[in-house]
Amino acid sequence: MTAVLRYFHGAAGDYLRRAARVRELALAPRSGDPIARLGRQLMQRELRFLDLVLRFVFERAGNPYFHMFRLAGCRYEDLVEIVLAEGLEAALQMLHRNGVFLTGEERSCSKPIVRQGREIASSPNSFGHWRAEGSLQAMRNGYFEGYELLRRREFGLAGRAHIQVRPVWPAQAAIHDCLRAARRGGIVDRWFAPGGFSGQDGRQWLGAGFLAAVARVHGLAVPFPSPFAGNDYGAVSRFIAERKRHGTASFVGSVTSHASRVAGAALANGHDIAGAIFFAGGEPVTAAKRALVRQAGAAIFPIYSIPEIGPIGFACREMEDGATVHLFEDSVAAISHRRSLLFTTLLPMAPQILINFETTDSATLERASCHCCFRRAGFTRRLRSLTTFGQLTAFGAAVPAAALTRLVEVALPRRFGGAAGDYQLVEGEGGAQTEVTLRISPRAGVESLEAVKQFFWNELPASRTWSQAGAFHVFIADPVRSSSGLVPSLELLARG
Ligand SMILES: [Zn+2]
Repeated sequence: MTAVLRYFHGAAGDYLRRAARVRELALAPRSGDPIARLGRQLMQRELRFLDLVLRFVFERAGNPYFHMFRLAGCRYEDLVEIVLAEGLEAALQMLHRNGVFLTGEERSCSKPIVRQGREIASSPNSFGHWRAEGSLQAMRNGYFEGYELLRRREFGLAGRAHIQVRPVWPAQAAIHDCLRAARRGGIVDRWFAPGGFSGQDGRQWLGAGFLAAVARVHGLAVPFPSPFAGNDYGAVSRFIAERKRHGTASFVGSVTSHASRVAGAALANGHDIAGAIFFAGGEPVTAAKRALVRQAGAAIFPIYSIPEIGPIGFACREMEDGATVHLFEDSVAAISHRRSLLFTTLLPMAPQILINFETTDSATLERASCHCCFRRAGFTRRLRSLTTFGQLTAFGAAVPAAALTRLVEVALPRRFGGAAGDYQLVEGEGGAQTEVTLRISPRAGVESLEAVKQFFWNELPASRTWSQAGAFHVFIADPVRSSSGLVPSLELLARG
C-alpha cells in the first residue's frame, strides 16, 4: 500500500513539473523571425562557443571539463587563439587528442572520468545548468521553431493535415510538437497513441490528457491522445486515407517503427496513403522500413536528435536514400573519431553543456550539395548514412548496450535463476518494425514468462512500448549463435 501511495505521489509531482514546462512554453514570447535568428547564430558560433566555455568551464572549478582542460595544459587564452586561428572543428579535434571529451558512460557516471592517470570527480549534474529546466525548455522550443519553419517551407507542409503517432509515455515529444505547431497557428489534427487504457498505462493516459488540458487552458489547441489498440495501426492509415479522399494530404511525426507499421497497415487494409510524408526519429530509418513506406506510396525522412544534445539535423527533400540529414551547425559542432560522432553544444540553453560528447552513432561528415531551404539558410554540411552501434534503439528507446548487458547477464539470472549466457536479447528487423526477442535457456528453469516480462518492464520502462506494439517476445529457447560464431547475451540490429 505504501509503495502504491509512493508511486502516485512521485507520478503526480512529475506531471506537475511537466505541466509547469508546458505552461512556460505556451507563454514564451514568440521570436520575430526564427529563421533569421538561426542565421545570426551561425555567424557567431565560434564566439558563442568561446563565451559558453568561459562561463560554464573556465569559471567553474567544479565542472569536470575544467580539470580536463587543465590536464591538457590548455588555458582559456590558448583556446581562444586556436579557435580563431584554426576554426572551431580543428580546435575540437585538438582538444579531443588531448583528453577533452566525454563518453556516454562517463556522463552518466557509470564509469569514472580518468585522464592522464587521474580520476576527475563528476556527478550526473556536473554538465547541467543553474537555470530552471522549465525556462530552458521554453527557450529551446522557441529557438527550435526556426528548424520547424524551415522544414515546413522545404516540404510545403502548409495545408497538410498534421498527425502525431507517439505513445502517451513519455508524453513530452508529442505534447511539445503539438505546442510548437499551435504556437505557429497550426493544429495537430490527431495524436494517435498506441497502447491500451488500463493499469499503469491508465495513469499515463491521464497524465498526457492533463498536459494537453494545461496547454488548452493557455489557448493552444493541443489534441487529447486518441488510443488505438496495441497493434491496430490501421486506425492511423484509415485516418490518413480518409483525409486524402477529402483532398487533404497528411504528414506524420513519429518514431521510425511506428511510421513503418502505419505503412504496413495501409498495405494490409488497402488504405490509400500515397503522398503522405513521415518524419521519423528515435531510431534509424533502415532500408527495409523505407522500402515498406515507399511501397505504400508514402515518403519517409529522418530527424536526428539525441536527448543530451537536442535536435542535430533534419533531412531535406533531396535526402531520399540512407539516413542523411543537414547538420544544424548553429547549435552543435560535430567531429568524428574512429567510428564515433562527437558533438559539442553551442547554445547556452542546450540540455547540457557538452564538449566532444562521444556518441555510439556513425556518419560521414561532408558538404551538402543540394538546393534546398536548409542549405539556403546556411546549413551547408550534412551527416550522410547515419548508423548506430552499441545501443538498442527499437521504438526510440536508446538504451546503451552496457545497461542491457547488465540486465541480461546479471539482473535476470539473479532474479529468476540460471547464469549469464542463459538469457539472450536480440534486436532484429521484423519487416514492418524493429522487434526485440528475449530467449531464455531451459537450463535457467524459468517458470513464468509473464513474471519475466513484468520484471523487464520495471527495470526498463521503454520495453513497455515494445510490448504495446507487439514487438517484444519472450520465450524459452536456447540462445542462438550469431554470424560471428559466438553466442552473445546481446545482439543489436545492424544499421544502414
Ligand atoms: Zn538539402
